[in-house]
Amino acid sequence: MAGKGTAQTRFRRSLALSLHRINLCRKGFDLHELGIVYHIIRDVENVARANGVRRVSSVTLLLGEVSGVVPDLLLDAWRWAADKKSITEGAELIVEPVEAVTHCEACGRDYATVEYGKTCPQCGSGETYLLQGQEVMIKQIETPDEDPADTVPDDPSDAVDAANPLHIA
Ligand SMILES: [Zn+2]
Repeated sequence: MAGKGTAQTRFRRSLALSLHRINLCRKGFDLHELGIVYHIIRDVENVARANGVRRVSSVTLLLGEVSGVVPDLLLDAWRWAADKKSITEGAELIVEPVEAVTHCEACGRDYATVEYGKTCPQCGSGETYLLQGQEVMIKQIETPDEDPADTVPDDPSDAVDAANPLHIA
């Protein structure tokens, strides 16, 4: 138990996540964003546990323009819910917007969904489909300075949270 980081070098570790799709339940009403936050936190917990991480410092989320999620509400919900979990307490949620793009099957072009909707601005066809812009995906999770692999060779990984299983009802 050498005290917690004196002048200990802080470094951030990125857990390279294969882009992780979150299954969204779209029936959330006003609790929509909170429901999404719970999904995110649960995913973060799972990934963190699988990697022996006890704390995360930030979570970067890809948020599609037409995902139906309001970033401000999401951030509020995150702050409220994340601070109640030791693993995400104080962690920042970084939202990276993803532009919505629609593809036209008639002329083969792509265009901005938000601006033109379902009708292709090039040829007027309605045979179009959304290419991207609905995603709500965790892109990256960062942790503070607790990677024993790099700095502190023999830090015996003290019992992770077997005694403290986190669950979201
Ligand atoms: Zn077209």
